[in-house]
Amino acid sequence: MPEKRDPSAPRQRLFFALWPGDDVRQHFAAVASKSLKRRGRRIPPENLHLTLAFLGPVPPEVRRCAEDAADGVAASPFTLEFNRLGFFPRPRVVWSGCDHTPEALTLLVDALRRGLSGCGITPEARPYRAHLTLARKASVEPDFGAPHAPIHWPVDAFHLLESKTHSSGAQYKILRSWPL
Ligand code: ATP
Ligand code: MG
Repeated sequence: MPEKRDPSAPRQRLFFALWPGDDVRQHFAAVASKSLKRRGRRIPPENLHLTLAFLGPVPPEVRRCAEDAADGVAASPFTLEFNRLGFFPRPRVVWSGCDHTPEALTLLVDALRRGLSGCGITPEARPYRAHLTLARKASVEPDFGAPHAPIHWPVDAFHLLESKTHSSGAQYKILRSWPL
């Protein structure tokens, strides 16, 4: 029997992401402080993450559907190598990216997108490009696209996160994790 919907139930702003361990996090923070100096609004080190799929604000039944979808995802562990800076001009986002996207990551994102589409969430149409946001509202600097010291990130889990926006900035909370 379909679950009853309660239109007044609170929505949660959710996304699936990879969440770095402390070592990897410090490496990204070091790249950001070296490359960005004081320019731009840097993401606080504790917030650095790699988004896999964004759900947006969803009611509890969509969260449950997304968790069920994630339960059905079978993906292998992989290692990412982040090695260059990139820039999205419109939001003026500076990011760190990978020259090579492991197939296991593409398969993981595709599986999540497929699962989410079964929950009524329109999947992102563009092919997935791994990019980890280091700063927003940055000014263009000459060395965008430039290589940075490679960061090797062994990935063995993905996570469902809740995002809350405060006046002091975004706050993320890991709600659930799935091993790869
Ligand atoms: P804030 O919006 O509070 O400044 P934020 O952008 O980090 O901070 P969210 O907007 O909740 O927080 O986004 C959570 C994650 O999902 C971030 O990695 C963000 O880049 C990504 N994201 C947000 N909106 C979208 C979207 N429409 N499509 C794809 N990814 C998105
Ligand atoms: Mg946002």
